[in-house]
Amino acid sequence: MRVPVLDLRAQYAALRAEIEPVVLGLCESQSFIMGPEVEAFEREVAAYVRTPYAVGCASGTDALILALRALGVGHGHEVITTPFTFFASAGAVSMVGARPVFADILPATFNLDPEKLALAITPRTRAIIAVDLFGQVADLTAILDVAGRHGIPVIEDAAQSLGAEHRGRRTGELALATFSFYPAKNLGGFGDGGMLATADEAQAKLLRQLRLHGESSRYVHERVGTNSRLDALQAAVLRIKLRHLDAWIAGRQRVAAAYTRQLGALGLGERFVLPATSAHATRHVYNQYTVRAAGRDALREHLTAAGVGSMVYYPIPLHLQPCFQDLGAGRGDFPESEAAAASVVSLPIYPELTDAQIGIVVDAVASFYRDR
Ligand SMILES: *Cc1c(COP(=O)(O)O)cnc(C)c1O
Repeated sequence: MRVPVLDLRAQYAALRAEIEPVVLGLCESQSFIMGPEVEAFEREVAAYVRTPYAVGCASGTDALILALRALGVGHGHEVITTPFTFFASAGAVSMVGARPVFADILPATFNLDPEKLALAITPRTRAIIAVDLFGQVADLTAILDVAGRHGIPVIEDAAQSLGAEHRGRRTGELALATFSFYPAKNLGGFGDGGMLATADEAQAKLLRQLRLHGESSRYVHERVGTNSRLDALQAAVLRIKLRHLDAWIAGRQRVAAAYTRQLGALGLGERFVLPATSAHATRHVYNQYTVRAAGRDALREHLTAAGVGSMVYYPIPLHLQPCFQDLGAGRGDFPESEAAAASVVSLPIYPELTDAQIGIVVDAVASFYRDR
C-alpha cells in the first residue's frame, strides 16, 4: 500500500455526484464570469469566517497583491513578513513595487516572532503580512498589538488556514485576510482561486473595484485595477466543497492526533520533533503536518522507498532566494528560518488517510531511526 503525500482523487470520488450536475449546469448556461455562484460563495465564506465582507479573486497571490494595493502600499514602502513561507507572501510585496523586509520566526510554531517583528519596523513600514503557516494561526494578538502601536495595518495571509482559530476567533475575523483555493489547500478548487475577507465596508468596495480594472460603474475607471476575478466554475465547485470543510478539518485533526500519539511513542527526542500547537491557536486546521527531522534528506529517501510521500515546505528561506539578493540579507541573518528550512519535512495528511496508512508512515519513520 502506498501513502501519497496528498490524494485529491479520494475527495473527488466522494463528491462526484454532487459536483458533476452543477458543473454541467454552468456549461449549459455558458455564464462563466461573476454571477450568482460567485456572489453566493462570497456570502458563504464571509459567514464561515465570521466577517461582514468577502471578495473573490483569481488566486491567493492576487489576494495579497489586491490587499496591498487597497492599503495604498507601493514604491518607497516596506512590508514586513516572515522569510519562512510560500514565496507569494513576499513576492506580492515586490509586485506592488514595495520592499519586502523579513523578521524571523518562532521555532516552535514556524510563525512570525512578534518581538523580531517589532525590531524590523522603520518609518517606511506600511504593512505587515502575518502568515498562518501549515494551518496554525500566527500570534495575531501580539502582532496586532505591535502593529497598532505604530498605526501599521496587518494583512493575514490565511492561504493555509481557512477555518483556523486564534483565541476562538476565525482567520479573517481579526485582520484583512487573504485566502487561496489552490487545489492543495484545505478548501481547494479545480484550478486557481482566491478570496479576501474584511470587516471594513469601504475596503471591501475598493477591493471589488481593484479586481475589476478599477471600475466604479460600467466603463468608468476610478483607479487602475486588474482582471482578477474568481471564475463561476470555481465558485460553484467550492460552494459544494465548503459544506464539507468542517468535517475535513476534523479528519485532518484526527490524522494529526494519531501521528502525534504514535510518532511521540517512538521516543526519538530531538532527532524527530513533532509539531507544537500554541496555546492561543484554539483550532489548528493542519494544512500540513510538519516535523523537524535529523537526517531529513536521508529520511525522505527511506520514506520514498517505503512508498510514503513527503514534501519539504520550504527548502530555501526567502531572504536567500536569488530574486531577493538585492535586499541585502544573507546567510545567518534569520537563523530560525534557516534552521527550519534545513530540517523540516511534511508528512502525508488529508481527511481520507486510513489508520493502516498512518501505521505505514509511522513504521517507516521508526525503521529509519532504529539503526541510527
Ligand atoms: C498557497 C499560498 C499562497 C498563494 O496562493 P495561490 O492561490 O497559489 O496564489 C500565498 N501564501 C501562502 C502562505 C500560501 O500557502
